[in-house]
Amino acid sequence: MLTVAAAVIGFVFFGVPLAAGAAPADEARSADVGAQAWSYTIDPSCAGWEGSIRQGANYWGDVTEGGGTPVRCQNSAITDCGFLAEGIEVTDVHGNLIVVGCNYGAGQLIKLFPGAVNDAALLAAHEFGHNWYGHSYDGCASWASPTDVMATTMC
Ligand SMILES: [Zn+2]
Repeated sequence: MLTVAAAVIGFVFFGVPLAAGAAPADEARSADVGAQAWSYTIDPSCAGWEGSIRQGANYWGDVTEGGGTPVRCQNSAITDCGFLAEGIEVTDVHGNLIVVGCNYGAGQLIKLFPGAVNDAALLAAHEFGHNWYGHSYDGCASWASPTDVMATTMC
């Protein structure tokens, strides 16, 4: 069981294309993340975005609200997200890449710029995913699988 979980984590980290016969994404989610409960708290700065943030959190399963990772929101690009903190980028109206989400210390703190993206729930799911995972590949994030959620860019 541990071997399977480790293999799935490796798959997510290195972004190996899903081959026929590979573990389904839903299985990866329950095996790796669902195995241990986690929690988060929505800061008042996220007023109006609670539904999207909860949707993003619920994507990973076995979560409760209260305690755990604080989630803060802002109306500008995030400028203090270090390389290791795994920022997610989006292209702004000027064609520049800006950071719209950041998970500091794998669950110590999450900052979101939800107003900058088309799908704030996907942005939240991506940042919560950094509690366990790095980026899967360079490209557009989507809901297709946990691997796609962990892609680098909100398109
Ligand atoms: Zn990221």
